[in-house]
Amino acid sequence: MTTLDPWGAVKIDNYSKLFDEFGISKFDELLEKIKNPHRYMRRHIIFGHRSYDSVLNAMLSGKPFAAMSGFMPSGRAHLGHKMVMEEIIWHQQQGGDAFLAIADMEAHAVRGKTWKECREYGINEYILSAIAFGLEPGAHIYFQSGSESVKSLAFELGIKANLSELSAIYGFNGETNIAHMVSALTQSADILNPQSEEFGGPKPVVIPVGADQDPHIRLTRGLAYKTNMFRLLVEETGKEISVRGKAAPKEALKEIAKRTGGTLYEEHVDISILGRTPAEVAEVYSIVQKVELKYGGYAFMPPASTYHKFMTGLQGGKMSSSAPDSYIALTDKPEDGAKKVMRAKTGGRVTVEEQKKLGGEPDKCTVYELLVYHLVEDDNELMEVYKDCVGGTRACGNCKKYTAELMSKFLKDHQEKRELARERLGEFGL
Ligand code: SF4
Repeated sequence: MTTLDPWGAVKIDNYSKLFDEFGISKFDELLEKIKNPHRYMRRHIIFGHRSYDSVLNAMLSGKPFAAMSGFMPSGRAHLGHKMVMEEIIWHQQQGGDAFLAIADMEAHAVRGKTWKECREYGINEYILSAIAFGLEPGAHIYFQSGSESVKSLAFELGIKANLSELSAIYGFNGETNIAHMVSALTQSADILNPQSEEFGGPKPVVIPVGADQDPHIRLTRGLAYKTNMFRLLVEETGKEISVRGKAAPKEALKEIAKRTGGTLYEEHVDISILGRTPAEVAEVYSIVQKVELKYGGYAFMPPASTYHKFMTGLQGGKMSSSAPDSYIALTDKPEDGAKKVMRAKTGGRVTVEEQKKLGGEPDKCTVYELLVYHLVEDDNELMEVYKDCVGGTRACGNCKKYTAELMSKFLKDHQEKRELARERLGEFGL
């Protein structure tokens, strides 16, 4: 069984296992419904999802939805973080509400960063870059330690989480400090926060993540379900919905029975849906949600997620913060970024003759990966590079120079935008 460890250094070689073992759905199945897909979607870099259909339906029908992500302010922001920032921004551009949490409690508890360092890293590394990439005012940017509502929600979720569950997911043991455990719950609170009353209540929320972050998503989906006042079960026959609320006020169950025409029992209401149209069934769900909110519950929807592939480290293998040549930081000097590209591992053959004869292997090339993920927006241009590479007419030396120039230009442009973003922090309440 594959174990996914969000705090460890796991490389997931075989993404298809995630579909079979963890129940992640294939993103491609939704692609044709998306009007203006992001290049990560078009290029199958986003490969999987949980419940993203709920977000897509809201997007297509003009209903509220949100996208959120958290960043741990303990190191430099790099191209991997850019991917998540772009995904949040894309959802904001499609009409969603955007949330960006700076996970300073986690950085403090797990990485030992001081609060001052957390603040500096949070703003200088992550927030400035997110604004520079196009995050617009209206986005909710916050530090975990500064959000009373997130901390309260984490406490509330803690009632439904136990040590065995957290240990099974994260490998916690008797030596794990308690604040580390609290930081796991705080991340769940971050994920559910966009559905709190303060932000308009329950709605579809997507969390764009790398596949290694799925344990957080599964934990949070489970906690959302357990924290809700009511659980809705569609009976096996498909003819009835059972609304269960063991600890729910009797009055709330009574109101659900009355408003849906259901039958009231001691701890549940059974509602026949035989002959009801899909819209009428949706109305039943909506009534249960409204009654739960009226009686002080959360009525959380299970958070949705999208999963993107990891970028390979520039030397092959994994990107690692302890090996600066393996990644390009968003604040690397443009000339240093270009040099890293020139030193990167390619999919080229050993000799020029072989390259001409056999062609290169772009699928194994970290330089090509930079073009696909970050540097070339035009799909046709990318196709030309690919064809020339496999056809043996493209030489790695020139290809690296071309990519290094694009990288240098990208970093220069981004860093100029970061300086403008510094002037705009006030627009985001910072
Ligand atoms: S030609 Fe370019 S894309 Fe092809 S292997 Fe060489 S560096 Fe990579």
